[in-house]
Amino acid sequence: GTLTVGDLAKLLHKDASEVIKKLLFLGVMATINQEVDMDAILLIAGEYGVEVEVKIPVEEDNFETVEEVDEEADLVTRPPVVTIMGHVDHGKTTLLDAIRKTSVTTGEAGGITQHIGAYQVEINSKKITFLDTPGHEAFTLMRARGAQVTDITIIVVAADDGIMPQTVEAISHAKAANCPIIVAVNKIDKPEANADKIKQEMTEYELVPEEWGGDTIFVEVSAKQRIGLENLLEMILLVAEVNEYKANPNKRARGTVIEAELDKGKGPVARVLVQHGSLKVGDAFVAGNCFGRVRAMVNDRGRRLKEAGPSTPVEITGLTEVPLAGDPFMVFEDERKARAIAERRAIKHRQTEIGANTRVTLDDLYNHIKEGEMKELNVIIKADVQGSAEALKGSLAKIDVEGVRVKIIHSGAGAITESDVILASASNAIVIGFNVRPEPQAEYTIEQEKVDVRMHSIIYKVIDEIEQAMKGLLEPVY
Ligand code: GDP
Repeated sequence: GTLTVGDLAKLLHKDASEVIKKLLFLGVMATINQEVDMDAILLIAGEYGVEVEVKIPVEEDNFETVEEVDEEADLVTRPPVVTIMGHVDHGKTTLLDAIRKTSVTTGEAGGITQHIGAYQVEINSKKITFLDTPGHEAFTLMRARGAQVTDITIIVVAADDGIMPQTVEAISHAKAANCPIIVAVNKIDKPEANADKIKQEMTEYELVPEEWGGDTIFVEVSAKQRIGLENLLEMILLVAEVNEYKANPNKRARGTVIEAELDKGKGPVARVLVQHGSLKVGDAFVAGNCFGRVRAMVNDRGRRLKEAGPSTPVEITGLTEVPLAGDPFMVFEDERKARAIAERRAIKHRQTEIGANTRVTLDDLYNHIKEGEMKELNVIIKADVQGSAEALKGSLAKIDVEGVRVKIIHSGAGAITESDVILASASNAIVIGFNVRPEPQAEYTIEQEKVDVRMHSIIYKVIDEIEQAMKGLLEPVY
């Protein structure tokens, strides 16, 4: 809430005219109905020897959960943010490098490339932001922390290979995030390349090329020979145009930490993506449980910036500690407030680490259903063979208890991987292992993320367990 000079006088049991006089004496011209800022309040209170306890509304502590509300008129088009995913060795890194070299923002050619977690290119005088860490694990790990950074995903498939397990994972991860997909069929320079085969295989995952009557854009490229890159960039712009990505640049900045580290010379540095508003040098901000004031800001060409608008990646210094990748950041009116919020967030973080488990489990599923909080149970299926995974998928899809349905967000053959567990965590899903177990790496993440993983070897028992859980009849396991 806001406080006027009159309100302040009342709180202090003083005459408004006296407070106005004091303010004037402190160099602040004010009338009785004028709002006073925190600094003035503290000054005046100090004058009268009154202690002020600064209380901040809870929503400011959880600023990442507050939805941005902007007037339509304040919104301007912002560059799309793109992540590249796909199977190992299909050319993600090569493609990222090739795109970076293809098109350099005008006037910034010759700048020294800086690794700041993301970069921007310009085509047809429009910008596109690429996240520099390829792969769906990084993507979904951010999502598990509550950060939705990517607008569009590029799924890279090598035309001399085909759809591989990590391709399927990438598709599931992108779909679970409701992220539009463009398929880049890579390595078309190779004699054995077969783009049609890739398109055919992709239809099995509901990615049907436009020329076959579907609505998925396929682009044939060679990252190595730099063929088709402009076309790919134009297609990204097309998808961006359709989805009308917009933001309000004229307000305090808010966004996500992409990377952060302790630099020997510079101290804590954070590489952030501005998503709303504009970040300026001198801004006080909170990042995760850390706070600071932007001392310097550098872009992906090593250029110093005074200001960075929506979809711009920048590296900032001026933090007191190192935040985590995926942490939200937001600018506040002054450093005192930023510090107070960061401190309270740190305390709350410690409390939730000890206590509550917010992930869905079969044991508490019925409570969520009863309270009308859940209409779908997200499930990931991993089985020893593809046939079993398909059979389970079919049976689970038929379950309908009290209007709640099972939604399979990913299924496949093989052990339960860390990536499966992260996807489950980000999508509030349970994992069913059919004749398979978690990989050792995944065991740790299951613990960490408190994901409910159920192992089975008989199909009807899986169905039975899920049905019982939906009806609240599951016998607790001790
Ligand atoms: P990532 O694991 O998906 O990041 O794949 P990389 O970018 O590391 O590429 C794996 C290998 O494929 C490397 O040896 C690349 O040189 C090669 N490669 C990538 N793109 C192409 C391409 O378009 N054509 C050919 N012939 N080779 C490529």
